[in-house]
Amino acid sequence: MLAEEFEARHGSQPLGFWSAPGRVNLIGEHTDYNQGFVLPFAIDRRAVVALGAAPDARPTARVSSTFSAEIVEIALDDLAPDALDGWSAYPLGVAWALAERASAAAAAASGTRTDLPGFTLHIHSAVPIGAGLSSSAAIECATAVALNEFWQLGLTPKELARVGQIAENQAVGAPTGIMDQSASMLGRSDAAVFLDCRSMQTESVPLGLGAEGLEVLVIDTRVSHDHATGGYAARRASCELAAATMGVESLRDLAPADLPRMQEELDDETFRRARHIVTENDRVEETVRRLETSGPRAIGDLLDASHVSMRDDFEISVPELDLAVEVSQANGAIGARMTGGGFGGSALALVPHAARPALKAAILKAFAEQHFRRPDLFVVQPSAGATMEGQTRD
Ligand code: ADP
Ligand code: MG
Repeated sequence: MLAEEFEARHGSQPLGFWSAPGRVNLIGEHTDYNQGFVLPFAIDRRAVVALGAAPDARPTARVSSTFSAEIVEIALDDLAPDALDGWSAYPLGVAWALAERASAAAAAASGTRTDLPGFTLHIHSAVPIGAGLSSSAAIECATAVALNEFWQLGLTPKELARVGQIAENQAVGAPTGIMDQSASMLGRSDAAVFLDCRSMQTESVPLGLGAEGLEVLVIDTRVSHDHATGGYAARRASCELAAATMGVESLRDLAPADLPRMQEELDDETFRRARHIVTENDRVEETVRRLETSGPRAIGDLLDASHVSMRDDFEISVPELDLAVEVSQANGAIGARMTGGGFGGSALALVPHAARPALKAAILKAFAEQHFRRPDLFVVQPSAGATMEGQTRD
C-alpha cells in the first residue's frame, strides 16, 4: 500500500521501506535533561517510510507524508537548520544532520566532501501526534535508518539516535533529551530501554509482561500539550537553579539522603521541583532492580509514587491525567502514572489482561461524568526498535 502511495505522490517506485516505533516512558520523567535515568519502551505503533532515489542534476531531498498534502523539496546543498520549518524539519533535519556527519567523516579521511545522492521519502505513521507517544522520534528514526542505508553511512543505532536528537534540537528547535530516539532505535520485544542520560549507556531490561498476563494500557486524554513549552522551560530552569545552588553539575549528583540539606538551601518551589527529580531517579533504578529480581508485578507502587511526585512536586499533571490514574488504581491496575512531558497527553496503567475491559469501561464512565473529552484507550506492546521492513523487487 505504501508503495502505491509513494508512486501516487512522486511518480516513481521506492527502493525499500524502513520503520521506527513511537515510545511510552514506563518511568523516569524530566530526568533526562538532569543527566539522570529513564526507562522507556518502544511500542507497536510505528512510522514507516518509503525511500527512493532521486537522480536530479542537483541532488535534492523530497519529502511527503500522509499527514499533509504538500511535497517539500530542497537541494541537499541548501539543507541547514534555518532553511527548515514545519513538519518537514523532522525528516529533513535528520538528512541535514546525517549529511554533516558524512561530510565531517569524509573530510577527516580524505580532505574532500562526500557527494551524497538525492532521495525521495514518503512517511506513513500510525503514531498519534501529540499524545505523548513521540510521533516525532518515530519519523526521525525511520528516516535515519533509511538514509543510513541509502547513503551507506554505517552508523550504529546509538549514533542514529543522537542524529535524531540533533535534528530535533537544531532543525526543529525543540530542546529535548535523547530518550525518545534511544527508545525508538534500541527497543526490543517485551523489554524496556534503561538509559543513563549522563554516560549514555543503555541496557535492555526484560519486562516479562506476557508471562505475567499483564498489559500496558495507554489513556490518551486528548488534552493538547501544545502550550507546554513555557512550562517545560520553567521546569528546566528550576532544575538548573537547584543544581547550581547545591553546587552540583546536575541534579543527578544528589540522592534522597541529600533532601534535608536541599530543603534548607532551596526555596519551597525549587525544592519540590528538585525533589521530584531526585526521587524519580531513585524510582527508576529501583524499578530496574525489581524487574530483574521480582518481575513486573512488583513495580506498581513505584509507578503510583511517580505520579504523585509529578502531580504535587513537579506540578505537570492536569485533572484529566489525575482522573485516569485514580480510576485505574481503583479498577484493578497494578500501578498507574501520567507519562510524557505533562500538561496533557497520556497516562499509562499496568493492568492484568483480564481486568482491562472493566477498567476501560470505568475510565470512559468517569470521564463522561466529569464532562471531560472522551479519552482514547489502547494497549501498547513493548516492541522492537527501528528496522528495515523490506525492499521492493523488480
Ligand atoms: P510527539 O509527542 O507526538 O512527539 P511533537 O510535538 O514532539 O509531539 O511532534 C509532533 C510533530 O511531529 C508534528 O506536529 C509534526 O510536525 C511531526 N510529525 C509527527 N508525525 C508526523 C507524520 N506522520 N508526518 C509528518 N510529520 C509528522
Ligand atoms: Mg516529540
